[in-house]
Amino acid sequence: MHMTRPVVFITGDIHHPPDLIKRLSYGELRIPEDYELRAGLEYIKVLHEYNVPCTLFITGKLVDTSSETIKSLISSYDNVEIGAHTYYAFRGLLYGYTLFIQPYRKLFGTPYGPKHLIHYDVLKTVKAFLKLGVRPIAWRTHGYEGDDYLYSLLAKLGFKIISDCRSERFTVFKRNNILHVCINMPVDDNLPNMSPSERASWYENYIRLLNIKVRQEKALVLQLHPVNMALDNFDFLLKIIKVLLKVNSQFHRLSFLIDL
Ligand SMILES: [Zn+2]
Repeated sequence: MHMTRPVVFITGDIHHPPDLIKRLSYGELRIPEDYELRAGLEYIKVLHEYNVPCTLFITGKLVDTSSETIKSLISSYDNVEIGAHTYYAFRGLLYGYTLFIQPYRKLFGTPYGPKHLIHYDVLKTVKAFLKLGVRPIAWRTHGYEGDDYLYSLLAKLGFKIISDCRSERFTVFKRNNILHVCINMPVDDNLPNMSPSERASWYENYIRLLNIKVRQEKALVLQLHPVNMALDNFDFLLKIIKVLLKVNSQFHRLSFLIDL
């Protein structure tokens, strides 16, 4: 039995709707455009019922296009902390409708593109949040691939915490005056591409690992996308919460780490 209560950070990313071109090519036209945002609201509600806080990273474009919904989300739920998740999520015209991601990675070492594009995208993101009355201090890069240029720019703009890295053990380090907090459970990025049976065994392995790690680690940083948790109507998310509550976990938003 744990002597101290395990600390848990639930995080997730919410994106704006894909471009029409992508929706056409993936046959996604029948999916409602605001599907991700609606999943996000449901996710917050589920966590709120158990008094569990979370940190959600939201694209600037979603903030701009759904500002009323996000405003009411922030004012109605005190369990949510909103972080920034790039403006375009490497989509849209400037990213060749995602076709430029590979060339950008080859040419510039990051799918985020050349420095002036990173600068443009980050400032546009901050501006979107400021319009909402929120000064973002937490950041996660879409695809987790940031670089030193990005991180020093974020530091200059007042960001305090970044969650791009991943590690086996709970890892926190300071670079460019920003705290980096690594995700130390498997990320759920591939869930939508799995068959139902693959998904079932992924869930099972995750819960098994969670049971082990919650007893081993000082803290757990979970990456669970609302849109992926909606795949089984939030059953898996509930299972996770129940495992964590059973061992008396204390849940926090990521910014909790800044003042430690
Ligand atoms: Zn993302």
